[in-house]
Amino acid sequence: MSDKPHRLKPRTIAAQALGAIEPQTRGVALPVHVSTTYIRDPDNQYRTGYSYGRPDNATVRQTEAVIAALEGAHEAMLFASGMAAATSVVLALPPGSHVVAPQVCYWGFRDWLINEAPLFGYQVDLADMTSLDAIRAAVKPDTKLVWVETPSNPLWGITDIAAVAAIAHTAGAMLGIDSTAATPVFTQPLSLGADIVMHSATKYLNGHSDVIAGALAVAQESVLWTRIRQVRAHHGAIVGPFEAWLLLRGLRTLEVRVKAATESAGVLAQRFANHQAVSAVLYPGLPSHPGHAVAAKQMSGFGGMLSIRVQAGERAAIDAAARVELWKRATSLGGVESLIEHRASIEGPGSPCPTDLLRLSVGLEDVDDLYNDLDRALRAANA
Ligand code: PLP
Repeated sequence: MSDKPHRLKPRTIAAQALGAIEPQTRGVALPVHVSTTYIRDPDNQYRTGYSYGRPDNATVRQTEAVIAALEGAHEAMLFASGMAAATSVVLALPPGSHVVAPQVCYWGFRDWLINEAPLFGYQVDLADMTSLDAIRAAVKPDTKLVWVETPSNPLWGITDIAAVAAIAHTAGAMLGIDSTAATPVFTQPLSLGADIVMHSATKYLNGHSDVIAGALAVAQESVLWTRIRQVRAHHGAIVGPFEAWLLLRGLRTLEVRVKAATESAGVLAQRFANHQAVSAVLYPGLPSHPGHAVAAKQMSGFGGMLSIRVQAGERAAIDAAARVELWKRATSLGGVESLIEHRASIEGPGSPCPTDLLRLSVGLEDVDDLYNDLDRALRAANA
């Protein structure tokens, strides 16, 4: 394999999992390294680099190497979930640090930031991450981290990563990007100036709705990265080897899956924009979306996620979700099967999500089948 894998295109990196082979048999599929403990050398050293399964694992490292190459990163680290990855970034900051986080983002992390991070001594302010002025106003002299999700759940707002990197760095803060919806196929936040990129690998990276995992990747070594590694080891937040192996398998088709889902999402966005039962389609690929210009600048594709707002309101939205036959009525996103969700129901009180909104994760089914199923459900619910 080339000694410069980062120069290869994402599709090639992913398809061959960096070209790794199993050295003993020369197998093109890698084994799962399950051992929790390792033999110490007679002279008391651990020369392989492995001593115990909580800090590190060879299968985990293999998958991390592929994610790092896809992100153009110096290194990646895998966690037991996206939440474990994101919370580890905050928990690695010095006590009392100030964090600027999004008003609109994955609700579970926002909930943790508002209700739990302060219990650990962190100060968190929420800002409208679609407004550079709002971000500038929220950053303080003691801000250590600006956290952004773009495109952001469930309204798919877009943040200008390069512009926010400049704001954060001027203030002496690091910029972290939750790039779950964009995937490394469409956005490489580190190349735009971000310091750390995060994925719920549960979603597109794995892509088959059968693994919970999270990933972080960084452009370079830093004190924060070393602390994050300690947090992962101490809190036991590493992903399991079987999950890491499944994730490696899922990653091999990342590019083709994400591009196919995006093609269908674009078609559905256009068709539902002209649907009588739909008052708005939220999709950064539509020129009418407020974040379209920035998305076109920093993304090479607009992704497989969109939301629709149902003209007749909350009851009709819930009713339409109840009437679909092909779409799966379930939370999560980024799998091969298309999911539909009345998002306000799961986010609960305090959610910025409109109650007439249905979130759509577009999978790999035929786009006409997907449209016809939801069209029929919307018409029946609206009747
Ligand atoms: N970030 C985003 C954008 C998500 O959608 C999710 C999960 O839905 C998470 C983070 C949390 O990831 P996990 O469920 O893997 O902990």
